[in-house]
Amino acid sequence: MNTASRSGDRVRVAVIGAGIGGTAMAALLRRIGHNVTVYEQYERFVPAGGGIHLSPNLMRVLRHLDVHRHVLFTGQEPGAFLNRDAVSGETLYGLPLGECAHRRFGAPFVALRRGVLHLALMSTVARDSVQWGKRLAGLDWRGDSIELAFADGSRAAADVVIAADGLRSRVRSILCGHEQPVFSGQVAFRGSYPREGLKGLHVDDLTKWWGDETFVLSYWLDRARRDFYFAAMMPQSTWPSEASFVPADVDEMRAAFRHFHPDVRRMLAGAPPGSVAKWALFERPPRFEFGTGRVILIGDACHPMRPFMSQGAAMALEDAAMLTRAVLGEGDFMRALQTFADARRERLTRVHRVSAANTFMRGETDPQWVFGYDVLSADASARLPALYTPSASAMAA
Ligand SMILES: Cc1cc2nc3c(=O)[nH]c(=O)nc-3n(C[C@H](O)[C@H](O)[C@H](O)COP(=O)(O)OP(=O)(O)OC[C@H]3O[C@@H](n4cnc5c(N)ncnc54)[C@H](O)[C@@H]3O)c2cc1C
Repeated sequence: MNTASRSGDRVRVAVIGAGIGGTAMAALLRRIGHNVTVYEQYERFVPAGGGIHLSPNLMRVLRHLDVHRHVLFTGQEPGAFLNRDAVSGETLYGLPLGECAHRRFGAPFVALRRGVLHLALMSTVARDSVQWGKRLAGLDWRGDSIELAFADGSRAAADVVIAADGLRSRVRSILCGHEQPVFSGQVAFRGSYPREGLKGLHVDDLTKWWGDETFVLSYWLDRARRDFYFAAMMPQSTWPSEASFVPADVDEMRAAFRHFHPDVRRMLAGAPPGSVAKWALFERPPRFEFGTGRVILIGDACHPMRPFMSQGAAMALEDAAMLTRAVLGEGDFMRALQTFADARRERLTRVHRVSAANTFMRGETDPQWVFGYDVLSADASARLPALYTPSASAMAA
């Protein structure tokens, strides 16, 4: 018997990476009766990253996992998403959010620290199902079983491996060869600081300032609007480092945005030296590798993209939900892989393309296709049954 089609709880699923997608994947598969172990390279939980947007399509998955209240309680629900000209400050397009997001997209829009989202997702995974300090080094196919080899010399066996190991996925390089993600030619200065640093400047809830080749995204990280966050993006020809980010030179940042509206210059001026990091933005071409046989790739392991639509984490969570539906419908991971890939390809291609173009909401836009998408029920069929949320009306609670 093929172990990948063993019934319910006897299939041993190994999820590689306890990041955004891996934690959700583990929680969703355990709910439908699978025996899941998550292997994470870090020794313990590390709440990394700066700010993040949780768009309504992502919030639907959090609601299904019953952790939406936590992020709603901690993060801010912007009243609107303003898009302004970088120099004149003229509003190019404003998308009403707050209560409007609930009504129009069926779920809220929230901005907060990435670590808060990550912690909320960690809380959905049983403690005994995460093995920390396990950096995957290799995979060996042994008949119906797959043996996992870790950098610490230990080994484990699984029937199915789900790669949620992010941008530099080890699983991906085992399957497809060691091809590094591509530097996009863009960098982002990311920083946050307390409200006092703004020295009385009024800052709207969520704004993207659009220049020709340079952009600044700014928002509050918390419900009380105490901590302010910005990501200032600009072109850079090379990234001469192995690291994803390096400490930023704030003088370089301020010089690069000196032609921006005075409000933006004041926001950037408020960042204390040492508080800003310069991130390289990586991507892969949209030839998605969803995996082969009993190894399945989700999230950044499958489709890293530029962050200009703020949809990377959303796509990882949508993947986890759609794969769960395919497993439920097909009853077998091998068949589920194809159903999952077919259900995801078109949407991922579109989000990847629009993110790369960096045009989303620059002018009048209908964002329904992104924010109104319901991954829990889209394209429902016997092979792809809908996932129902027990208390769909509880989103605002
Ligand atoms: C500047 C910037 C801003 C962004 N803003 C947003 C935003 O506003 N909204 C949004 O939705 N997305 C945003 N994103 C994207 C988002 O953060 C990622 O797309 C998302 O975290 C991907 O989730 P993942 O689970 O695939 O990978 P990750 O969350 O990166 O998790 C990967 C996990 O795998 C582990 N791992 C790696 N290798 C191994 C190994 N060999 N063995 C074991 N474990 C391993 C890692 O330690 C990590 O825990 C942004 C990205 C950037 C760069």
